[in-house]
Amino acid sequence: LKKELIFSEKMNIASVISASVAHEIRNPLTSVRGFIQLLTQTELNPEKKQMYGEICLEEIDRAEQIINDYLSLAKPYPEVEEKLDLGEEIQYICNVLTSLANLTGAEVEIKYDINLFVLGDRQQLRQSIINIAKNGIEAMENKRGILKIEAYRRNNEVILSISDTGIGMTIDQINRLGVPYFSNKNKGTGLGMMVSFSFIKGMLGKINVKSELGKGTVFDISFPIIKV
Ligand code: ADP
Ligand code: MG
Repeated sequence: LKKELIFSEKMNIASVISASVAHEIRNPLTSVRGFIQLLTQTELNPEKKQMYGEICLEEIDRAEQIINDYLSLAKPYPEVEEKLDLGEEIQYICNVLTSLANLTGAEVEIKYDINLFVLGDRQQLRQSIINIAKNGIEAMENKRGILKIEAYRRNNEVILSISDTGIGMTIDQINRLGVPYFSNKNKGTGLGMMVSFSFIKGMLGKINVKSELGKGTVFDISFPIIKV
C-alpha cells in the first residue's frame, strides 16, 4: 500500500493546532475539577474516594499526553528558521527515543550521510519526527521490533525515512493519518500526526507512507536540499 499524502486536504498549521490542543486539554481539566469537587464532600465512602482519585490521575495523565504530542520538548518557543544538520538532529532524536524504546523492548537504529541540511525550525523538526517515531515504537509494543531512522540524498532532495516492523496500517488508516483525533489507541490523542504533518508542510516537506499489515510501516519524508 502506497500513498502520497495530499497536504491541501489537511489543516492549516498553528491556528488549528492550538485550537484543538486547548480544546482537548479543557476536557480533562473540567472532569478533574468535577471529581475534586465531589471529593471535598464529607459523605463519600472510601471506595468512591479511591475511584474518583484514580479518575483524576488518569485525566491528568491524558492532559499531559496531549501536551507531549503537541510539544514533547516542553517550553513554548518562538519559531526560528535555520539551517539544520539532519545527522545531528537524528542523533538527538535517537537519544530522546531510546528510553521509550527500552520500555517496550524495541531497538532504535540510525544511519545518515553527513552534510545533509534542511531549512526549518529545530523544535518543530524534532517534534515532527518524534511523533512519527513514537507511533512506530507503539506499533511494535508486543514484539521486539526495530525502529530505523535514516537520512540520505536523492537528486535535489533529502530523504528522512522512519520505519518500524510493527502492526502496519490499512489503506483506510493511512488515509486518515493527520486528521485530528483519529486514533486506534485506548489512550491515544489522535493529535500526533496532525502536528507532524503541519510542521513538515511548513518545512516544504512531502510525506510518503508505505505500510503492510503485520509487517510494518515506512514514512519517507522528502525535503528540498539546502547547500552546505
Ligand atoms: P495517537 O498516537 O495518539 O493514536 P497519532 O496522530 O499519532 O495519534 O496517530 C494516529 C493513528 O495512526 C494511530 O492511532 C495509529 O492507528 C496510526 N498509526 C500512526 N503511525 C503508525 C505506525 N507507524 N504503525 C501503525 N499505525 C500507525
Ligand atoms: Mg501518536
